[in-house]
Amino acid sequence: MSEETKTTQNYEFKAEVKQLLNILVHSLYTNRDIFLRELISNSSDALDKLRFESNKGTEIIDKDLPLEINVKFDAKENTITIRDTGIGMSKDEIIKNIGTIAKSGTSEFLEQLAKNKESASNLIGKFGVGFYSVFMVADKVVLKSKSYKKDEKAVRWESDGLGTYEMEETGGVIRGTTIEIHLKEDAKELAEEYRLESIIKKHSNFINFPIYLSEKRVNTVSAIWREPKSSIKKEQYTEFYKFLTYDSEEPFEIIHKSVDAPIQFSALLFIPKKNFDMFGFSRENYGLDLYVRRVLIQHQNKDMLPEYLSFVKGVVDSEDLPLNISRETLQENLIFTKIANSVTSQVLSHLSKLAEDDPQRYTEFWNEHGKVFRLGYSDFTNLEKYQELIRFNSSKVDSVKDLVSFADYTSRMKESQKEIYYVFGQSRGAIESDPHLEIFKSKGVEVLYLFDPVEELVMSSIRKYKDYELKSVDQVDLSKIDKLETVDEKKTDVEEISKEDSKAMKGFVDRVKEILGDRVKDVKISKRLKDSPAVLVNPDDTTSSTMQKIMHITNQDKSIPKKIFEINQDHKMIRNLLTAYKSDANDEYVKNVIEQLYESYLMLDGYLDDPHMMVKRINKLMEQSSDWYNSVKN
Ligand code: ADP
Repeated sequence: MSEETKTTQNYEFKAEVKQLLNILVHSLYTNRDIFLRELISNSSDALDKLRFESNKGTEIIDKDLPLEINVKFDAKENTITIRDTGIGMSKDEIIKNIGTIAKSGTSEFLEQLAKNKESASNLIGKFGVGFYSVFMVADKVVLKSKSYKKDEKAVRWESDGLGTYEMEETGGVIRGTTIEIHLKEDAKELAEEYRLESIIKKHSNFINFPIYLSEKRVNTVSAIWREPKSSIKKEQYTEFYKFLTYDSEEPFEIIHKSVDAPIQFSALLFIPKKNFDMFGFSRENYGLDLYVRRVLIQHQNKDMLPEYLSFVKGVVDSEDLPLNISRETLQENLIFTKIANSVTSQVLSHLSKLAEDDPQRYTEFWNEHGKVFRLGYSDFTNLEKYQELIRFNSSKVDSVKDLVSFADYTSRMKESQKEIYYVFGQSRGAIESDPHLEIFKSKGVEVLYLFDPVEELVMSSIRKYKDYELKSVDQVDLSKIDKLETVDEKKTDVEEISKEDSKAMKGFVDRVKEILGDRVKDVKISKRLKDSPAVLVNPDDTTSSTMQKIMHITNQDKSIPKKIFEINQDHKMIRNLLTAYKSDANDEYVKNVIEQLYESYLMLDGYLDDPHMMVKRINKLMEQSSDWYNSVKN
């Protein structure tokens, strides 16, 4: 193209890009060398894409160019140049790809960055900010690119990263992308052989294409998942893991499997120490890299493992899939499905073994990834394994951190017990003061504690473990529990109720019904209470109160469910009320206490929306009790 016809156009970056650039340029001085990792990774993606097109038989220009990445530097000019022979970009693609940020979660990420300047460099390292990171070290970048497509023109792009960029058509460029970085004054020391070599070795050693630095090949490592397990050192696994995930810590578990029949595949999988989803910006950041004969077919394939195993990172490589397989039809490919099923069961078996061999480590795993794992209740194919792997807090352990399995539960349950009991609550403290649990405590029956609404879904969806039904404590047929031997008898100074009082109690129950009216479904004498004077119970066969609570908490249902109000006739307070009732059936004090009891339990269940009446009533009751107090004292 001649100089006269060359037209340069100016463009402005999108707001999000400007915001990111602003942070990158002005607040980051450590971890800056990851810019090279980001650019090399883009080059490697571009080469992968080219190889993929070529395998499909797409027509490609400069077909004989080797697939490689070249890094050069000029210490006098203070420049670094990175060139790849990948798919390149057309002008429109540059505008689309470089002018905007498409990555999901970017805005959350930016928010975190802006809030958290000190840890910004750490975050950047984990998130992968892509192309723009180059402006941490550059005050000018010139990018030249030529698409692999036959009729596309080569493009020259230039920017100082301050808000605008310019583009023009250019000539004399071969397929791929070249990025010329003009280093900032304070980043000049990067243009040095040893420095560049060590950055590439540290971050890009496992790139699947040769990387040359001043004509010398730097990365040496081949596809380690294809190597026999015995030949790989722990450090190599760690190094690969860090390369793959950007995690700075070692992996928690390594699963390396090679299967030959009926279908050949190798899988190298990792379970990270920490749940990656720190700020929710990793929602899309999961999936396994799928290779066919060492060629990357798809980065972060999301169908190889079910979503509840999305904490697993790694690669799967198969000889048996066609190289030109299209990503869109992968899911329908029978071989792919078989590999996916096998990989899923490898992961589950690995976890089972971990749980068996080292329960404490399994607990560590669970506390980090259990929240995601428990979503697996709908994987019917692996339901049995899932049931063995899921963990709960329980009345038989000492702290929230301790966990039990269904197998632990059933191994120590009462001989005649046929059900597994659970209760949902906001915390261990809240659950332990739940009156529903009193009878279970006194009979020594274990109850599983659930804190996450999802756990309730797990229970109501799987319904059974082996032959044992899963039952919420408020939906239990209490006669079954009542029959069991009492192990923890509470001493009480209340005598057994007399015949006469027992009769009067019937009238008292009717009076309570009258007081509470249609706010309750019924009033009954309780079988389940030991310490508490009363409790609100769900009528049989309705939604469990757990589910009601969840719906109330999540605002889906603001109505107050009508329940059965049970009273404990062996409780001192109830006996005292009975005495007052016997002398005056319409006693005002009795009415106030019953109202108060009802609202107290309403409040415990999270249903008391307006506390004003309650406070007024409590004040009244305190006034009355202070009268009594003075009369006794004097
Ligand atoms: P990311 O790599 O996370 O998508 P980047 O900002 O690094 O984000 O890159 C944006 C897009 O620009 C890439 O997805 C790719 O389409 C394109 N791109 C970047 N570098 C290259 C390159 N060397 N060759 C071809 N396309 C590239």
